[in-house]
Amino acid sequence: MEIQALGYLGFAVSDLDQWAAFAADELGLMVVKREDGKIDLRVDDYAWRIRLSEGAEDDMTLVGWEVADKAALSGLAERLRSSGVAVSEGSSEICADRMVAGLIQFEDPDGLACEAFFGPLQLTQKPFVSPRGATFKTGDQGLGHIVLSTRDKPGLVTFYEDILGFKLSDHINTEVVPGKVLNLSFYRCNGRHHSLALAPLPLPKRLIHFMLESTTIDDVGRAMYRVLENGRHLPFTLGRHSNDEMLSFYVLTPSGFELEYGWGGLAVDDDTWHVKTHNVNSAWGHKFQKPPRKEGAS
Ligand code: FE
Repeated sequence: MEIQALGYLGFAVSDLDQWAAFAADELGLMVVKREDGKIDLRVDDYAWRIRLSEGAEDDMTLVGWEVADKAALSGLAERLRSSGVAVSEGSSEICADRMVAGLIQFEDPDGLACEAFFGPLQLTQKPFVSPRGATFKTGDQGLGHIVLSTRDKPGLVTFYEDILGFKLSDHINTEVVPGKVLNLSFYRCNGRHHSLALAPLPLPKRLIHFMLESTTIDDVGRAMYRVLENGRHLPFTLGRHSNDEMLSFYVLTPSGFELEYGWGGLAVDDDTWHVKTHNVNSAWGHKFQKPPRKEGAS
């Protein structure tokens, strides 16, 4: 497959300032204020990994997948087109905006704006420095992972598995939230157990959660206590996932989707891996917690 890693994400958020403060002070990400008013978040040498734009959606509005080079990008574009997917070449303006050497744009069957790119700008002269001393695991495993809600899981499976080339790692059939049995499917494009998961849930937001993996267990503990001290809601408590072995907690972001802050995720060896099935979400923990009642709500 051409896609090698999750490269970048775009979020449209209703409160840029609150998001920037959450990202820097609580998560420990590096915040870069852009001249166009948007905000870039860094976790490594890449010039940016998450772009925050002002918008009422409070959802993910863009996903960028990284490929190796121009030839890989051309191969991917050709396969998308031959599968009936409309593909446009990124203009020099868009490439400059994304700080990449080349990109293509297309949509997944749910209408999510997707890009594939190569040649991302690296800022080794301005190294990533976390305001909270956190360090993140990226490299050949890419940014982390995203979990998409969909009303058309079979359509997305065809798109991501058969056309884009993601490999199925496993399924979890479980009540993630009490009373709702779900078939979750987890897909990889590198050694990270999954960069993408699909959940057949008719939620208003596309993004259920995104995951960032820290390099030390203490980063997870420190981040968890920072968000708790700031009164954030944890939709799932600290736990260890059954499939990717990620030790993590989930925090509700200012946009209402969740962030999984993890450590210790499984690295998959393609030569020995076989597809598995789990019937629990977690080996321990990850206890679901109902959101607090809003003030004034009856
Ligand atoms: Fe996750």
